[in-house]
Amino acid sequence: SDLRQQLVITAWERNRMREPIAFGRKTSMPISSQRKSLPVYQMKDALMKAVRENQFLIIVGETGSGKTTQITQYLNDEGFSDGGIIGCTQPRRVAAVSVSKRVAEEIGCKLGDEVGYTIRFEDMTSAKTRIKYMTDGMLQREALLDPTMSKYSVIMLDEAHERTVATDVLFALLKQAAKKRPDLKVIVTSATLDSAKFSEYFCGCPVINIPGKTFPVEVLYSQTPQMDYIESALDTVVEIHVNEGPGDILVFLTGQDEIDSCCEVLYQRVKTLGDSIGELLILPVYSALPSEIQSKIFEPTPEGSRKVVFATNIAETSITINGIYYVIDPGFAKVNTFNPRVGMEQLVVSPISQAQANQRKGRAGRTGPGKCYRLYTESAFYNEMLPNTIPEIQRQNLSLTILMLKAMGINDLIHFEFMDPPPKNLLMKALEELFNLQALDDDGLLTKLGMRMSQFPMEPTLARALLASVTNNCSEDIIIVISMLSVQNVFYRPKGKEQEADNKKARFHHPYGDHLTLLNVYKRWQQANCTEQFCTLNFLQSRHLKRARDVRNQLMAIFSRFKLPIVSCHGDPSIIRETLVSGFFFNAAKRDSQVGYKTLTGGTAVGIHPSSSLYGKEYEYVMYHSLVLTSREYMSQVTAIDPKWLIKAAPHFYKITDEESQSRKKAKIVPLHNRYSKDQNSWKLSSIRQSREK
Ligand code: ADP
Ligand code: MG
Repeated sequence: SDLRQQLVITAWERNRMREPIAFGRKTSMPISSQRKSLPVYQMKDALMKAVRENQFLIIVGETGSGKTTQITQYLNDEGFSDGGIIGCTQPRRVAAVSVSKRVAEEIGCKLGDEVGYTIRFEDMTSAKTRIKYMTDGMLQREALLDPTMSKYSVIMLDEAHERTVATDVLFALLKQAAKKRPDLKVIVTSATLDSAKFSEYFCGCPVINIPGKTFPVEVLYSQTPQMDYIESALDTVVEIHVNEGPGDILVFLTGQDEIDSCCEVLYQRVKTLGDSIGELLILPVYSALPSEIQSKIFEPTPEGSRKVVFATNIAETSITINGIYYVIDPGFAKVNTFNPRVGMEQLVVSPISQAQANQRKGRAGRTGPGKCYRLYTESAFYNEMLPNTIPEIQRQNLSLTILMLKAMGINDLIHFEFMDPPPKNLLMKALEELFNLQALDDDGLLTKLGMRMSQFPMEPTLARALLASVTNNCSEDIIIVISMLSVQNVFYRPKGKEQEADNKKARFHHPYGDHLTLLNVYKRWQQANCTEQFCTLNFLQSRHLKRARDVRNQLMAIFSRFKLPIVSCHGDPSIIRETLVSGFFFNAAKRDSQVGYKTLTGGTAVGIHPSSSLYGKEYEYVMYHSLVLTSREYMSQVTAIDPKWLIKAAPHFYKITDEESQSRKKAKIVPLHNRYSKDQNSWKLSSIRQSREK
């Protein structure tokens, strides 16, 4: 391809002309000098003075300058933790864990003592904890019980430029809390952000810039659009490795599958190149990776070899890898986006924004002058990429967020101080979903059931099914199913052993589908005393099963806190499926002789995912957990259902019609959900009017 050619030429020319660059030796400095060498260290006194004198403060500094790991420690040294905990939020779970580990190491304490973290279903803090890292979602949840954040003296909203829904909601909640608590300090930190806009939002507060220690990064654009960015990325890696000077390579890909397969393909390719080239260490980085492997990326590369890291956009700002001189940016990321056509959220690979592209580029200039290979054209950068990423709150399903706000007594969503308000149709969609789940009443106010649902840290659909399990006397079983749905895929399918793994998996299959299959797996694992041996033998991921067990324990704890009975129906397939339908009646599909299945709500053509235990089976009605988009739209986690359950669970949502089908009459279930849009939005309007009056 042109790009390849372009790269080869530029590299060759540069090799010929290049003056030797002096690369610093990668030594392991003692932690105290490492800390002092960070750019934020120079600003310590100025920062602490600003925190003392202001309630709100915005801090902007390059990724890697030490904001996340150092500022909390400075605050601790200054005595801010005497009056409460120093909290620091992260949009990503992995970042919260890895950063708190690092800080505990720097301070020299056991993780969970002075320094700890809290993420959903996992709490590594204690009464001793002074510095607490957590996901923004967790702090938002804490606000439900403690709106003034009384436990905290300082809250640092980190990585604010990511603009996750939870961070955006926290902006507004902390602004409110600060009014009631003059002693509360709120710090907003970020790598890149529109600091004027942020300062204006936070009452004109000061902005402190941490001068970066960055080197110039040369940008190389592809001269033609690349059809296959994975191929181009791999070619570029090899090209750099063979022709360029020392320095590690960072490649941005969109997800775990892509990363795993790239590591594999590159490994094979490098093997064929033989000893003629230097050693290349290949490392993957994504959220689901076990932490042992993740910490490997921080280890310095041995002299004489080169490291290539394949990462998701987690490496854009949340995690800093030292020693990167080359960045390869295909220009894509997977984003969670609400798909109005199928009426649910989906992870979709989309072009990144210019701001993200520049952030990625910056990763190459931290240790010395670097290079960024953009696998797209210069014109695509300027004409096709948006200048800034759209905040999540403007593109995601907001039902969980709105349920939580309603549970906090915030009914007036129109006047809630969002920095960027969500579009009206997203608000409507969420209100409608909550109404259909019976979490809101006709006036858009929280029902008793809705209040209960808000107490579970999960999507309202899952919470609804959990609460239905109480009525149906099957909570013990449903808790397991939902815990299994909340973790990564437990089935392991290694290359070269696909058939063997599939055969083992088939032994767990339940004739009615995947939800009951998951229940089977968990129960059998438990019967086998949760041993590694059982997992290895059955091609199961023990790590994910253990996490499911943690989730289950947490859910059991919530049940006992609210005195909800934990009862088993001993795996009764009808009771379990009917209970799941109470939360997932939106996700139903009917067989269609032409296209496989069609969703009941949108009439979208969908298939059963090949990994499903129902693949190839022909049940008339099924429900699914989610839709995945690959070559076509697939239902994932599919279970056969009786259509009567749909009407029973949601008489306000579905009705039975008689449809003339050739000669015989056939009953059909159709959604009623046009009711509200047809009724001149009467319900919607009243709900908003209501909120305004409150
Ligand atoms: P910022 O928040 O400004 O991006 P951080 O405080 O996260 O910066 O990182 C500061 C420095 O600490 C970086 O050079 C980073 O490489 C290093 N660092 C962070 N986490 C770890 C870790 N787990 N192991 C080793 N070094 C780390
Ligand atoms: Mg950081």
